[in-house]
Amino acid sequence: MTLSRQRIAIIGGGPGGYEAALVAAQLGAEVTVIDSDGLGGACVLTDCVPSKSLIETSNAMTLLNRAGGLGIATGGLATVNPARLYQRITDLARAQSRDITARVAAEGVTVIPGHGRLAGPGMVRAGEAEIRADAILVATGALPRVLPGAEPDGERILNWRQLYDLTELPRDLIVVGSGVTGAEFASAYQALGSRVTLVSSRDRVLPQEDEDAASHIEDVFRRRGMTVLGRSRALSVRREYDGVVVTLDDGRAVTGSHCLLTVGMIPRTEGCGLDDAGVKVDARGFIEVDRVSRTSVPGVYAAGDCTGVQMLASVAAMQGRIAMWHALGEAVHPIRLDHVAATIFTDPEIATIGMTQRAVTAGEVSARVLKLPLATNPRAKMAGVTDGFVKLLSSPGTGVILGGVVVAPRASELILAVSIAVEQRLTVEQLAQTFAVYPSLSGSVTEAARKLMEFTPDIP
Ligand SMILES: Cc1cc2nc3c(=O)[nH]c(=O)nc-3n(C[C@H](O)[C@H](O)[C@H](O)COP(=O)(O)OP(=O)(O)OC[C@H]3O[C@@H](n4cnc5c(N)ncnc54)[C@H](O)[C@@H]3O)c2cc1C
Repeated sequence: MTLSRQRIAIIGGGPGGYEAALVAAQLGAEVTVIDSDGLGGACVLTDCVPSKSLIETSNAMTLLNRAGGLGIATGGLATVNPARLYQRITDLARAQSRDITARVAAEGVTVIPGHGRLAGPGMVRAGEAEIRADAILVATGALPRVLPGAEPDGERILNWRQLYDLTELPRDLIVVGSGVTGAEFASAYQALGSRVTLVSSRDRVLPQEDEDAASHIEDVFRRRGMTVLGRSRALSVRREYDGVVVTLDDGRAVTGSHCLLTVGMIPRTEGCGLDDAGVKVDARGFIEVDRVSRTSVPGVYAAGDCTGVQMLASVAAMQGRIAMWHALGEAVHPIRLDHVAATIFTDPEIATIGMTQRAVTAGEVSARVLKLPLATNPRAKMAGVTDGFVKLLSSPGTGVILGGVVVAPRASELILAVSIAVEQRLTVEQLAQTFAVYPSLSGSVTEAARKLMEFTPDIP
């Protein structure tokens, strides 16, 4: 008996969609991807890749600003060439999208440019084209939320996707929203030379993150001259002459040259035919999925930001792959969100994995917690790095590493050691006995493990 080739239709070509397409094609399926804006999605074209490229330049500026202390005479103030900066970023994003397009084509995937929608059981429509499929994946991403009274105009009042069309560096940037995106851009633009005001509706920046890390980064921001307005909700943003005015809920008005709005995301599912197909969404409109990416409709899967599960490219890609493994009858492990490594690309970076101290303090789990400042690390001293720390959480009974936080330059790289420990259930002792290079920042990870072996009070 010959099994017929399974047909897969994917709406959306971001990490959720194109990674799924690659897996499905490798498993022998006939795959069609419908995408409206370019493969790689918002991740590659407007969000993750451009922002991280901008941050690479801002990191270089930070290094240049520290150069004097390292014994380098720079002969003047380094400044940014905005046109070159933004051109480099958009070129890089487009090149990355082209690479993905070539890779997907090489696997024999059909790509249809256009808007896709569910059009009855086992059917997707894209313009005039009708695609029959045994399984469908919806991976349409999300859009920046618009604050009523603060609608972006693309010139002075901006969302992050409009930044790269600017021809200048904002002289006086007001960032509204102090979540991950707001904190990253505030940090980057300050390093690039903008005067930055960060408007946060909460007590502190990064309210969802490790409290020590968030307070640490807020201290760094303030020390470097950023104005951080805590407990300040922005009510409206308007243009005035050649600048902007942000009105806060206590009546104060903050003026600047530009305002960047980072107030969350909404699912991009309008016109996708979800209602007619009977696909359930939650109160905020995100598609409900289980841990193998199934929606409420048999044969229809969803992945990535449109599910609101955890808005990271790595999670979108994993959800998409899992959907395909499941749809094509492969062995599959349901997604585990407690093992997702994540980084906030501020300077210094904040990288996290596994159990949080918040869960420990809330009494959900007991753990030993140890925090080791980076300032005592010899490599940090050599590099002139004074900010940052390594925090490890371990099980009081077994000594198994449950989680960690690294605040450091390139914490996104350093966290891998802790990630492996968490994933592989290594003990504090095993991590402590592992060789780290001398001198290295990663030496602080093994040193933290050694200190955790000595003694730390149990919390709570
Ligand atoms: C500023 C910023 C920085 C970020 N940085 C990081 C980071 O450093 N690391 C990280 O892991 N994550 C990061 N993220 C999150 C990451 O970008 C998203 O989680 C990721 O893009 C989600 O992928 P996706 O496939 O779900 O959606 P998307 O990347 O949004 O792709 C969806 C695609 O679907 C297409 N589409 C939508 N509707 C239709 C339709 N009806 N028909 C056809 N095509 C359609 C869109 O054109 C798009 O190409 C960042 C996000 C932001 C906002």
